[in-house]
Amino acid sequence: MASKPDIRNLDQRQLIKFFENSGMRGYRADQTLRWLYFRRADNFDQMTDLAKDARTLLSTSFYIGKPAVRDKQTSEDGTCKFLFALEDGNAVESVLIPEKDHYTLCISTQVGCAMGCTFCMTAKTGLTRNLSRAEIIGQVIAAMDAAESRGGMRLSNIVLMGMGEPLANYKNVISAIDAITDSNWGLKFSTRRVTLSTAGLADRFDDLARDARIRLAVSLNAADNETRNRLMPVNKAFPLDRLIKACANYPLPARDKITFEYILIKGINDSEKDALQLAKLLRPVRAKINLIPLNQHPGSGFVRPEIKEIESFQSILTEKNYTAIIRRSKGADISAACGQLRGETKTLSHS
Ligand code: SF4
Repeated sequence: MASKPDIRNLDQRQLIKFFENSGMRGYRADQTLRWLYFRRADNFDQMTDLAKDARTLLSTSFYIGKPAVRDKQTSEDGTCKFLFALEDGNAVESVLIPEKDHYTLCISTQVGCAMGCTFCMTAKTGLTRNLSRAEIIGQVIAAMDAAESRGGMRLSNIVLMGMGEPLANYKNVISAIDAITDSNWGLKFSTRRVTLSTAGLADRFDDLARDARIRLAVSLNAADNETRNRLMPVNKAFPLDRLIKACANYPLPARDKITFEYILIKGINDSEKDALQLAKLLRPVRAKINLIPLNQHPGSGFVRPEIKEIESFQSILTEKNYTAIIRRSKGADISAACGQLRGETKTLSHS
């Protein structure tokens, strides 16, 4: 199997070329794509409206990969964390989160991460490698199957907020988003329901605005450079003035806003002064703020503020006319809160 490529690593253009180079008509590609994504086929024999010679060609040239569930933990609130085994022995996490009337899926884009955020357990492992297009899409397909097997709600929202920095794996992430959102042959997720969360690689924002019309979230976590340098070393390369300028210039559809995630850490970034500074910093941007009380993990040295402190931080932002939502920490009992779901990967991968 490993000697053949995973067909989901080919984008539409490459698949058309493949058929044409094999002496077949390019429209076979769209038929194949519909089977691969819209119908989520897991073998070529299922592709019954494809001529036999095309199916044979595909099965001798490719395989259809799907990440295997190595481990699965379900929280009391229904949040489900998957640890997916990759073919090279690595593993990544995805988290399926039940909301009021739909599921949201948080997916990974890299094995590990090079960004080095000091509050994040994934950072401790460093970066191992980028995920391929197929590995990113595979998490979505496996979670769609899991959501359907539970019955009831549909998986409709995706956040690229798991392990890794999506903009550091730009090509594969954009190509995967294409398959996830394509409304003709793809998985047909609405672009308004797909959110890419970045630690702030501001030099990629123009590319992103050109290549994908999805929502943008920025993991901010501090409103001054000194604190942000301490929490997120990426701030040294893209300090706040540059980051905020890139956000202000980011072309947004009418009524859309950039979401700024702010993990509240006791005594580090949760004071009244921090809230006022944050309100001032975001003034040039159409912004909304997600306040995420730290999902404490042993050994991090960081502590979650009391609820009273969290609420007073929120009310300062509300008084300054921001939408500031306190995100309930779903799946906290399995360390699966979005933005921090990475935590136990290493532990799990050795279980
Ligand atoms: S918080 Fe995100 S960007 Fe920062 S180290 Fe962790 S995975 Fe990477």
